[in-house]
Amino acid sequence: MVDCLFCKIVKKEIPSYKVYEDKEFIAFLDIGPVNKGHTLVMPKNHSETFLDMNERELGKIMHFIQKVARAVVQGTKADGFNLMLNNKRAAGQLVDHAHFHIIPRFHSDGFKHWPQGKYQGNEAQQIADEIKRFL
Ligand code: AMP
Ligand code: ZN
Repeated sequence: MVDCLFCKIVKKEIPSYKVYEDKEFIAFLDIGPVNKGHTLVMPKNHSETFLDMNERELGKIMHFIQKVARAVVQGTKADGFNLMLNNKRAAGQLVDHAHFHIIPRFHSDGFKHWPQGKYQGNEAQQIADEIKRFL
């Protein structure tokens, strides 16, 4: 993709702090880290969103992420990490080249998780049924 920022990182047309790569995937530091060591992992092949990634890549990328996540935790002495993927604008995706975030977490970082809601009546069953129709 000509104008894709992350394809340009893959092609080394713009610089990045790469931590690891193989033939198909690359891991590099997020330039605006939630915590230092925040790392992005993505397929080198351009897919706009997670849902556009092909099955073969999907089958492999989790192994790559696990390897990088271990190193991020060790390299940052993190107490844990979040693995995250923003899919489309409504979910906060800003760069349209599918990528996972590995965010090192520390007991002391003070970040809270999203607020959780509650289902009323038979709402949960209704929503589960709606989802099941497509599976
Ligand atoms: P998302 O909101 O999931 O699309 O994430 C995009 C991420 O890319 C953000 O966290 C940005 O800080 C990060 N980012 C943007 N430009 C660069 C860049 N040139 N190098 C590394 N990370 C970047
Ligand atoms: Zn791309």
